[in-house]
Amino acid sequence: MSASDSSRSVRSLAHVHRNTEQHWVGDGFPVRTLFAYSDGGAELSPFLLFDYAGPRDFPPTTRRLGVGEHPHRGFETVTIVYDGVVEHRDSSGGGGRIGPGDVQWMTAASGIVHEEFHGRDFARDGGRFHMVQLWVNLPAKDKMKSPRYQSILDADIPAVDLPDGRGTVRVIAGAFDGAIGPAQTFTPMDVWDVRLRAGHHVELPVPDGHTVLLAVLDGAVHVDGGGAIGPAEVGVFERTGNFVILDVEHDTTALVLSGDPIDEPIVGHGPFVMNTVDEIRQALADYRSGRMGHLG
Ligand code: MN
Repeated sequence: MSASDSSRSVRSLAHVHRNTEQHWVGDGFPVRTLFAYSDGGAELSPFLLFDYAGPRDFPPTTRRLGVGEHPHRGFETVTIVYDGVVEHRDSSGGGGRIGPGDVQWMTAASGIVHEEFHGRDFARDGGRFHMVQLWVNLPAKDKMKSPRYQSILDADIPAVDLPDGRGTVRVIAGAFDGAIGPAQTFTPMDVWDVRLRAGHHVELPVPDGHTVLLAVLDGAVHVDGGGAIGPAEVGVFERTGNFVILDVEHDTTALVLSGDPIDEPIVGHGPFVMNTVDEIRQALADYRSGRMGHLG
């Protein structure tokens, strides 16, 4: 650690992840995977994967758009909705319907089977669909705990106005300026949904030693010390320093992800993320034999 608590040290941008290639998850989620643990897992930890869906306009339909029954084990999926409605149902009895501003924080842990679809009413009317699904790793000691489902509504998420009209920070997890986010997490982390206004200089405090990622969905920022992050790009910051300083070039919607890195091996296969190859084999066997449950 190069910075003591009393000193101010600015984070440099290490590099930027981007991916212009879109693929479909089921028939409902047109996704760009902006980062994945297969490309820099230790540096991204505890975050594993970032799927950015849309924005895309869907015509009205009576079909169910989305992805049917599939498993997860060993981590959490965090779904953040900007536009549209997502319905979810899982084998632990969890489920719900989330819309703009809402977040679903699903802990797969020892294993669930679930389905993810566009909301029925939304599909019938059509409209803009725009969401993020983030995968958050669990430490080895928590990977086989019971599944958990947190439905976090827009109204539950505190919003902190930055001074002088610079923008707003919605605290989904962790804390910002005294506001505490509602999400319960297994390791220390902050997940902030930020809106920044063009022409402003913004300083965001971040814990020294934590991974810090800035995912710009819309807009553009310049990073103090060099570099820029544009639409559908994720900036990865160096590990030391206790401030991220940005010049906001265009009105920006972004997610700030910071977290205490989990210093453990990552072995993943499709919807399973564990620590060893044997644990992946076990996950496949448990799924096939029905030990992760079924949807009724
Ligand atoms: Mn899923």
